[in-house]
Amino acid sequence: MISVAQHLGRILDVVQPLSPLAMNLLEAHGCVLTEDVVAPAPLPGFDNSAVDGYAVRVADVASATADDPVVLPVTGDVAAGPASPLRVSAGSCVRIMTGAAVPAGADSVIPVEWTDGGVATVVIRRAPVEGANVRRVGEDVASGDTVLAAGSRLGAVQIGLAAAVGRSRVLVRPRPRVVVVSTGSELVEAGQPLGPGRIADANSPALTAAAVEAGAIAYRVGIVPDDPRALEATLEDQLVRADVLVTSGGVSVGAYDVVKEVLSRLGTVSFDKVAMQPGMPQGFGTIGPESTPVFGLPGNPVSALVSFETFVRPALRKMLGVTPLERPRVQAVTRFELRSPLAKTSYLRVGLSLEKGQHVVTPVSGTGSHLLAGMSRASALAVIPEGVERVAPGDPVEVLVLERRGR
Ligand code: AMP
Ligand code: MG
Repeated sequence: MISVAQHLGRILDVVQPLSPLAMNLLEAHGCVLTEDVVAPAPLPGFDNSAVDGYAVRVADVASATADDPVVLPVTGDVAAGPASPLRVSAGSCVRIMTGAAVPAGADSVIPVEWTDGGVATVVIRRAPVEGANVRRVGEDVASGDTVLAAGSRLGAVQIGLAAAVGRSRVLVRPRPRVVVVSTGSELVEAGQPLGPGRIADANSPALTAAAVEAGAIAYRVGIVPDDPRALEATLEDQLVRADVLVTSGGVSVGAYDVVKEVLSRLGTVSFDKVAMQPGMPQGFGTIGPESTPVFGLPGNPVSALVSFETFVRPALRKMLGVTPLERPRVQAVTRFELRSPLAKTSYLRVGLSLEKGQHVVTPVSGTGSHLLAGMSRASALAVIPEGVERVAPGDPVEVLVLERRGR
C-alpha cells in the first residue's frame, strides 16, 4: 500500500500545466493568463463627462446660487460618441451627456439637477468647483500600465478590463479536456429501463460534472461494457481529444476488471492500493503517443468521487495553472465520535457548520462507498489521517471544504 500523499505526488510529477494558447477573450473566461496585458492607451482615453449636464467655465458660473442663478446661452449638444467640434467660449455653455468628450474651453460640468434643464438657455443654481464631474484622461490606467499580470485568473472583471484596453484575444493556459468513461456490463444509461441486476450509470455524469466544476472541458463518453476490446477501442478513439482520461470501475481484483487489463497494456499505467477509505484501488499513468494522463478510478460512486477530489481535481488545477491545487482545509471539532481504519486515511462525509465562531462537523452518512445519497448531504469531508483510529466528541479534526458548485 502507498499513502495518499505518495500517490498524489506521483500524479503531480507527471501532470504539467498545459501550453499557453491564444484564445478569444470569452473563451478564456476562468483561465490563467500567461502574458502581461499592457494598456496601449490611457483609460479613460479622453476627458469626459461623469454626468448629464452642462460643460462650463467655472469663472462664468462662480456666483450662481439658488436665489441668484446665472443664466447662460447653450451653444450646442455633445453626446457620447464621435468627438464634437464644439468649443465652450466665455459666457456660454454646451449641453453634455454622460461619457461625452468635454469640449475644449470647458473646465467643469454642472449636473442637470442643478439647473432648469434648458435647451437654448440654461438657469444654473449652483457653482461647481473646477474639474467637477470631469473624468480625466488616464485617471484609471496610464498608457503602458500592466493592467493584468501573467498568472492572473480571468474572472468577469478581468475580462472586462482586458476588453476595455482593447484586447479581443489573450494568451492563457487552456482548460484541460477531460474524457470520462464508465466501465461495467451492469450499467445502463440513466433514464433507460433497468433489467435484472442492472444499475444506472451514476459515475460518468458525476465525474463529468466534477471535471467541469474543476475548470475542465469534459466529454462524457458514457458506458463501455466489461469487454477489453470495446474498452481499448474506445480509449484509442478518445485519445485525440483528451488531455486527461478518467475511467471508473474495473480496477479491483475481480475477474472482469478490464480497465486494469487494458490500461496496463496501453501504456505505463500502474495500479496501486492507496491507503485511503473510500477509494483504495487506484490506477494512474499515461497512454498513447502523447503520454496522456489516465486515471482509473474505482467504480463505487463515492469512491470515484472522493478519488476525483483527492487526485484528479488537483491534477486538473495544475494543468490550468491555478493554485492552490487542493480544496481549502479548516480545523473543526466533531460533535460525535469518528472512526477510521488505523492504516488508512479516511474521508468521512460530514456536514460543516459554524457555531460561535467554531467549525463543527456532524456525520451525514455511513461509510459505505455505495452511499451516494449520503454524500449528497455532505458539505465537507473530515480527513482522519493514517495512524488515527478514533476522534472523540469535542476533539479537533481537519476538514476538506467541498464547494459544490461553480468553477
Ligand atoms: P467495480 O470497480 O467495477 O468492481 O465496481 C464497484 C462497484 O461500483 C460495483 O457495485 C459497480 O456496480 C459499481 N459501479 C461501477 N461503475 C459504476 C457507475 N458508473 N455508476 C454506478 N455504480 C457503478
Ligand atoms: Mg465493474
